[in-house]
Amino acid sequence: MLKQMPDADVCIFDALPVPFGLIRHGVAADHQGTKAVTKQFARLFEKNGVQFFGGVTIGEDIELAAIRACFDAVVIAHGLHGDIGLDVPGADLPGVFGAGRITRLLNGHPLETRPAPSLGAAVAIVGMGNVALDLVRLLAKSGNDLVGSDIDDEIHAQLTSEVRTIHIIGRSQPVDARFDPAMARELIELPTVEHAVHGVDIGQDGDPRSSIISELDRAPHPPSARVRVEWWFGYAPSDMRGDRQVTGIDIERVDSDDVLTIPVDTVITAIGFTATAQQRLAADTTEAGDTGRLSPGLYVAGWARRGPRGTISSHRSDAQQLASLIATDLKGPFTRAGAQDLEDRLASAYSYDGWLRVDALEMSQATSGRVRKKLTDINHMRAIAAGHSLPSKAPGTTP
Ligand SMILES: Cc1cc2nc3c(=O)[nH]c(=O)nc-3n(C[C@H](O)[C@H](O)[C@H](O)COP(=O)(O)OP(=O)(O)OC[C@H]3O[C@@H](n4cnc5c(N)ncnc54)[C@H](O)[C@@H]3O)c2cc1C
Repeated sequence: MLKQMPDADVCIFDALPVPFGLIRHGVAADHQGTKAVTKQFARLFEKNGVQFFGGVTIGEDIELAAIRACFDAVVIAHGLHGDIGLDVPGADLPGVFGAGRITRLLNGHPLETRPAPSLGAAVAIVGMGNVALDLVRLLAKSGNDLVGSDIDDEIHAQLTSEVRTIHIIGRSQPVDARFDPAMARELIELPTVEHAVHGVDIGQDGDPRSSIISELDRAPHPPSARVRVEWWFGYAPSDMRGDRQVTGIDIERVDSDDVLTIPVDTVITAIGFTATAQQRLAADTTEAGDTGRLSPGLYVAGWARRGPRGTISSHRSDAQQLASLIATDLKGPFTRAGAQDLEDRLASAYSYDGWLRVDALEMSQATSGRVRKKLTDINHMRAIAAGHSLPSKAPGTTP
């Protein structure tokens, strides 16, 4: 927007006290190169005058209509944080989790319910997109393999200490699977992981996913292997077994009636994301999908517009096009006063300086081999963001 309209007054509202959405709480902790894109976004606040109002849930703390009354254009970019569940018997058994819950726990999301579960020795991950492969890698790695990350170590240990087998289950053949071949390559390179591949039809020559999977299949089994990854191509889950806890998953061959039961302690579904109650601010329209415009002055971007797909860079190109559309739509005269008119209601919002305080504290508390230790207690995060120093604990007291 600022490239199109350099004088525009741009404000970002976020339900969390800190910015950066899934880049902070979704992108894997051992992919710091990807997370580094926050440095580019930081310039918006530090050099281009964009204001950040954290801890403000639109629709709860302030209605969308009130925001619209103060701004000439409003873009809904609230993402999609609900896990899409599996529609099979037993999908609601204890021990069945959504990928969102597990990835948010590993990424120190302050609103995710704790304590984390133990995933047990055998885990099934349903889905073969990049989120599923992130999970395979993070669950297969030990703490020593995560040097340079900002993983939540206590949570990682709690989730993974018993994990020995990870089954990854997808309906498609490698040629049609959704994962990026580079993600599978990362798994081949782990010295503590061995692989077994099931259900692959003859691969397609020259297809990068088929090639990497046949490489995985042929890879020597390292003597130091601690975790075994079983890849199931062409299978879909048909049932979750168990009474009070999941104990197995039935998978059915998509091109026949063959069914296998795999004993598991945990199932993680990684088949996509959907809106939570907080993320239903405006009804979708066909035009919104096509152009990003919901109605005059109201727009939608990111996952809220496209669904849970695309990369950070594809959404940035989308956002550039949307900014051009908004600039064309806005004719003036511009009389709305922006956040100034919401001063009273934003009095307790957290500013970008608040994020800088959280950022500095997290980096200063990083343990050996980690780049930061995230604040996972929302009240602590709020206090630091607000600039309150917390009373230090008296020696010998318990929290
Ligand atoms: C586990 C995981 C790993 C990923 N890894 C990669 C990767 O390695 N590379 C890559 O390119 N892409 C990756 N992605 C995809 C990438 O994160 C998304 O494409 C991108 O973050 C979508 O941006 P967004 O702005 O639409 O949503 P989000 O990043 O989810 O941001 C939405 C923001 O809106 C806030 N919010 C929600 N509701 C409200 C409300 N009512 N009021 C105020 N604020 C609200 C949220 O707190 C959040 O900060 C990953 C996604 C996931 C889930």
